[in-house]
Amino acid sequence: MTDILIIGCGGVGSVVAHKCAQAKVAEQSFGTITIAARTQKRLESVAKHVDATYGVMPAIAQVDADDTKALIALIERVKPAIVVNVALPYQDLSIMESCLACGVHYLDTANYEPPDTAHFEYKWQWAYRERFEKAGLCALLGSGFDPGVTNVFAAWVMKHELDSVQVLDIIDCNAGDHGQHFATNFNPEINIREVTAKGRYWEQGEWVETDPLSWSMDYDFPEIGTRKCFLMYHEELESLVQNLPGLRRARFWMTFSENYLNHLRVLEHVGMTRIDPVSFQGQSIVPVQFLAKLLPDPASLGPLTRGKTCIGNRMQGLSKGSPKTVYIYNICDHEACYKEVGSQAISYTTGVPAMVGTKMLADGTWLKPGVWNMEQMDPDPFLRDLATYGLPWQCVRVE
Ligand code: NDP
Repeated sequence: MTDILIIGCGGVGSVVAHKCAQAKVAEQSFGTITIAARTQKRLESVAKHVDATYGVMPAIAQVDADDTKALIALIERVKPAIVVNVALPYQDLSIMESCLACGVHYLDTANYEPPDTAHFEYKWQWAYRERFEKAGLCALLGSGFDPGVTNVFAAWVMKHELDSVQVLDIIDCNAGDHGQHFATNFNPEINIREVTAKGRYWEQGEWVETDPLSWSMDYDFPEIGTRKCFLMYHEELESLVQNLPGLRRARFWMTFSENYLNHLRVLEHVGMTRIDPVSFQGQSIVPVQFLAKLLPDPASLGPLTRGKTCIGNRMQGLSKGSPKTVYIYNICDHEACYKEVGSQAISYTTGVPAMVGTKMLADGTWLKPGVWNMEQMDPDPFLRDLATYGLPWQCVRVE
């Protein structure tokens, strides 16, 4: 059985640990599960919850994943076959280096972002292709929901529904309400950096930039109703425009409530979302990191959040020479997620695909040397397991 090391034990890491334990019990998919991060107390409480839920007690280990030497020592001690990186995007390269040094496969849910620039791009991780290939190791990038399932949805539509695609809209709706004045549903620093960045979409072979959250549309979501969605740049667009030839337009949309946007505007206006260090009483602080400390921990929103998420792809193209549009999506209920694993739906919809991607590597289904994005793999086995492990999905024809 495949031993795994999960690095990161926040909202997402906790769900991954629970779901790996579930797959271990149900299908013997994994051997020893070790979870690692810097804070011992959190590791202990997640391990206890996993044990109480599935009767599997994960091992725990304290590590700072920015410290490659310490991480290599941990991997050498634990000897996992796969490292699952659900820490922060800043750690991606250090963890990939450690995997290469130890001959271990790698998986993550977010692409690398340098701490001092709010700019995420695959180039840093794609640069590892040759090294992973030569080492006979697999690195699977972006195995969350978006990126992740949205990439696999695109591959599934291209395999089963369309012969060619011209327009792709990925639409992410979180209609959950946590009752807080302002909170982010995943890591606040990463979330705020993403939302306050310029928008970008693919049009006729080039990227078009838009001012942050300056474009919106109303979309009628199944089981939720109409919500306002804002155009943003999102990392899966970068690989999808390369891997879906013929794509004329590709955009990503996300819903935000008026309340969230009002708070964000004020925080921006007063400088609290800045990512450059400022000097304060003789100390250097980064305002967005300070803000993240004050905001509710996303993991604490689990018991508070009510409502549903709906994330999916609307894809327009040709099938047997005729125009066809399909919408492929998942709906997830915050309260049901909390009841099952003690987390809200954003952590759940990221953690389940991270486990399923890990399972695809563990059982050899997706295991091939190199650095891969999710749409480059066969979507069928992944989507089968995704539904089995809590995220059922549907594809409907749009007239
Ligand atoms: P949290 O902030 O809740 O958790 C982050 C975890 O990483 C914590 O356990 C933290 O623990 C750990 N961590 C941070 N720095 C280090 C370090 N240097 N060494 C070891 N561990 C570290 O974030 P989330 O769980 O919400 O998000 C996790 C990842 O998932 C992020 O990369 C995020 O971008 C991604 N994500 C992807 C989505 C998708 O759909 N693809 C959607 C949502 C999130 P400690 O501080 O104790 O070390």
